[in-house]
Amino acid sequence: MDHKSLLQSDALYQYILETSVYPGEPEPLKELRELTAKHPRHLMAIPPDEGQFLRLLLKLMNAKNTIEIGVYTGYSLLSTALALPDEGKIIAMDISRENYDMGRPIIQKAGVAHKIDFREGPALPFLDEMIKNEEMHRSFDFAFVDADKCNYLNYHKRLIDLVKVGGVIAYDNTLWQGSVAVPPEVPMSESMRYGREHTLELNKALAADPRIEIAQIPIADGVTLCRRLS
Ligand code: SAM
Ligand code: CA
Repeated sequence: MDHKSLLQSDALYQYILETSVYPGEPEPLKELRELTAKHPRHLMAIPPDEGQFLRLLLKLMNAKNTIEIGVYTGYSLLSTALALPDEGKIIAMDISRENYDMGRPIIQKAGVAHKIDFREGPALPFLDEMIKNEEMHRSFDFAFVDADKCNYLNYHKRLIDLVKVGGVIAYDNTLWQGSVAVPPEVPMSESMRYGREHTLELNKALAADPRIEIAQIPIADGVTLCRRLS
């Protein structure tokens, strides 16, 4: 398979893409998806059905200020940028800008680059800086987290202060290719087991966190939406 999906068949996934996703996919996203497909790590990008979901969610929420952790070539970033109003702003972080630079000409051509404040480096220190500034507390409508899984709970500790009450934090890959429901004795690769363990811990912590209400969405590799309550 050259995509990640938890659906029961490739044919069903293809049906969804062809019927509901590709016809409405904005041209710059299609271009970025096709460019990214040539990159050896293209499976890191969110799939187009998830991009469609994010765009609709952001519009439903009337989101204006967002955070993104984990940019890669920018498919989720461009999805977000296209969904925000013209005055919308995204603080986007990635430890490396190399892959972002690949997607940037397409983002610029799409006319949404002015919404993006890209910061190169590990996300935790950036979030710590943001936390120091009281004005940034409760100022974001949305955050999308799609980076190093071992830090998701560290991100959660900071993001919960940065998003508004009623704002949403979305964590990506929270079903970790279905491995969360596989018994621990089943053989799996080191990286699968590593991600599985962090994901199990995250999912448990999110479900028990009284500051949020959550929904586990089984789209793509699983997305957990967390709405801040107080
Ligand atoms: N959301 C992207 C998309 O739709 O194309 C995919 C993101 S990819 C799965 C994960 C990204 O997280 C990589 O580009 C990697 O460089 C970045 N990353 C890993 N560790 C990080 C960290 N500590 N801080 C910021 N970014 C990190
Ligand atoms: Ca992901």
